[in-house]
Amino acid sequence: MKQDVIVVGAGIIGLATAEQLLLLGAKVTLVERNKVGRESSWAGGGILSPLNPWEYPDDFTRFINYSTSMFPQWIARLHQASGIDPQYIRSGMRVLPPFDKNIVENWCKRHEVRLEFEDILPTDIAVNRQDHLGVSNNDNQSAILPEIAQVRNPKLLKALHERILQLGGRVIENCSVNRLKTLNHKICALDTSQGEMVSDHYVLCAGAWSQQLLDQHASNIHIKPIKGQMLLFKFDQPPIDRILVKKDIYLIPRQDGYLLVGSTLEDVGFDKKITTSAREYLLAKAQEILPALNAMSVIKQWAGLRPASTSPLPFIGRHPILGNLLICTGHFRYGITLAPASAEILVNEMTGHAQNFDVSLLQPK
Ligand SMILES: Cc1cc2nc3c(=O)[nH]c(=O)nc-3n(C[C@H](O)[C@H](O)[C@H](O)COP(=O)(O)OP(=O)(O)OC[C@H]3O[C@@H](n4cnc5c(N)ncnc54)[C@H](O)[C@@H]3O)c2cc1C
Repeated sequence: MKQDVIVVGAGIIGLATAEQLLLLGAKVTLVERNKVGRESSWAGGGILSPLNPWEYPDDFTRFINYSTSMFPQWIARLHQASGIDPQYIRSGMRVLPPFDKNIVENWCKRHEVRLEFEDILPTDIAVNRQDHLGVSNNDNQSAILPEIAQVRNPKLLKALHERILQLGGRVIENCSVNRLKTLNHKICALDTSQGEMVSDHYVLCAGAWSQQLLDQHASNIHIKPIKGQMLLFKFDQPPIDRILVKKDIYLIPRQDGYLLVGSTLEDVGFDKKITTSAREYLLAKAQEILPALNAMSVIKQWAGLRPASTSPLPFIGRHPILGNLLICTGHFRYGITLAPASAEILVNEMTGHAQNFDVSLLQPK
């Protein structure tokens, strides 16, 4: 592929897409309003799975499973080429009740996901019994998905940035795309804070800001920001071995003793401020799950804006009207997990290669 491509937005999605385009020989320019990988992709937790995966439709699960299957090779390649280790670890995920054991078992069987149940030891984890009303068959057991992995997303972003530079990609930071200039159902230029930019193809990976940038060309591509706040703790040793999930709250142990607690889901526009109420809420929920946190202080709190679309699925494909514009956005809670598969789908769409599974539901209309 010898053509020029401008990718707008250097989060995980823009970076993963740029890498795949460069590997095919395209001349790629990545345009980022701030610094590379400092928005939602940096703020995320790096769990490579939905939190309670049986709550999602099968189309979404197939997409997730396809993407997670790409991770071991992708990370090994990035690590080797960049010298930066994104710390891909199959730490496993332990889901605490309440859940319906039959639903969990059936889902795991259908999608060939390894599953174990383990008794909850009252000394390990405090469980609020009121949560279990109506679910009697599993209230003393947690569901363990031992194959679930995590990555250290800030390190993955650094490795990708380095790899893109190695492959000859051009990265322009502190450059805001203000407007898409169009002519005859095509983009003819990008109006940016550093002047006009022209290319053969344009790829929009602007995360929560995608709809704003599309403006009157948004069509059915509805994206809004959903704020997520996280807390960070530091133990001498990891206090838990697996990712721990209870409903929407999760604890992610890193190998060096850091422990992340997430996250809130706040529909408050583009406000990225951290709040005391979120800190208190997350702290109380996390202490209930892991009493060892009672003795620990929060060492950092941050927030990110997830790009939420109207369904669990993102938009990936050609813009319905503007022929040289491709879209890859709306990954909401799972953009880290879905990054390699999303980039592959986008690049297949651009080059006309066959897709590896039915992607019609992802097409922008
Ligand atoms: C608290 C939290 C926890 C999460 N945990 C997980 C998890 O455990 N696992 C998981 O898979 N996902 C997780 N996610 C979701 C995941 O982080 C997102 O889905 C993913 O980062 C989206 O990537 P993106 O590249 O589309 O967006 P972003 O990372 O936001 O990147 C978009 C980029 O576009 C740039 N941009 C925007 N407008 C313009 C413009 N006009 N001109 C130039 N540049 C522009 C922005 O500056 C930004 O750098 C989490 C998210 C949050 C907030």
